[in-house]
Amino acid sequence: MKNTDKLFELSKVDAVLVISEKNRMYFTGFASTFGYLVLLHNNKNIFITDPRYYEMAQSLSRDGVEVVQIANGTSATDALNDIFRNYDVKSVGFEDTELTVQDHSVLKHKLAGVKLVPVGDFICTVRSYKTETEIAYIRKAQSITDIAFSEILKVIRPGITERDVQVELEYQMARNGAEGLAFDTIIASGINSSKPHAHPTDKVIELGDPVTMDFGARYHGYCSDMTRTVFVGQPSGELRKIYNVVLLAQTMGINNAYCGMAGRELDSYCREVIKSNGYEQYFVHSTGHSLGIDIHETPTASMRSVDMLNAKQFITCEPGIYIPGVGGVRIEDLLLIEEDGVTDLTTSDKTIIIL
Ligand code: ZN
Ligand code: ZN
Repeated sequence: MKNTDKLFELSKVDAVLVISEKNRMYFTGFASTFGYLVLLHNNKNIFITDPRYYEMAQSLSRDGVEVVQIANGTSATDALNDIFRNYDVKSVGFEDTELTVQDHSVLKHKLAGVKLVPVGDFICTVRSYKTETEIAYIRKAQSITDIAFSEILKVIRPGITERDVQVELEYQMARNGAEGLAFDTIIASGINSSKPHAHPTDKVIELGDPVTMDFGARYHGYCSDMTRTVFVGQPSGELRKIYNVVLLAQTMGINNAYCGMAGRELDSYCREVIKSNGYEQYFVHSTGHSLGIDIHETPTASMRSVDMLNAKQFITCEPGIYIPGVGGVRIEDLLLIEEDGVTDLTTSDKTIIIL
């Protein structure tokens, strides 16, 4: 069970009601499709569930979490109202970043005795600082992803399709310990590679094609994320130039990253290189994002980001250039920010790969 002191320090509420699957997973480490977690001060936490999970949820009691089962004929909101009365709770934080408008109006109606306070952004902030266990899971997820990349290089050749590459890459991640995917794999070859988020198709890979692969594994619920663009046969002069510019941009970003920098500053290190080479209009997304249980978490590194990159936070560095009708290149590594420096967790080679 996560320490919730920081959340209460930021939100100043008497209790926090956690309903979304991923935030319940975050705070408890317990995966379930249904449940209400009530966080109270001094690490007193109560998990409300139904008979499907009651027995499994007993494992939470080892962490001092009280597990309450909703009995037949009663509702979760009845149980919540009992808890709020018993603990003299007047203000309850809720996940405004996760709940639907309908969920919120039901809560407002059923929990009429308390004041509902939006705390979604505070939960995102707390989640952005990773514990040692979370860092270990993300490191492992990234190492699985790197291994899968080294395996896929043995498979890519003219004549196979983007879908073939996708299936093999996902198989290699599973084979090397992934419990699932961090997100839908992106495979884009030839002129498809000018679309940053192209889905794999039945397109056959041909000689001279760039192949961009953006993929990640999930390990103990935590994501990894990397992108490489490789070439099948010799690339055109223009694609080779684009590759070198993107690599230089990414290297500038990574080499200049430091603990306490602004996300916007990391973005500008990459963007300036692309701009000075005349490709600014073709770098159409931000430089990076954090990850964790979600593939996109705060902080972010973009032109407009107001986030700082602090110790125990992650950020990707993933500049790209995409020219419609020509093709595109993206290179993405995952960085861990720590007080004494920034570690690039992505170990795969970035010198141009021509298969
Ligand atoms: Zn990615
Ligand atoms: Zn990414």
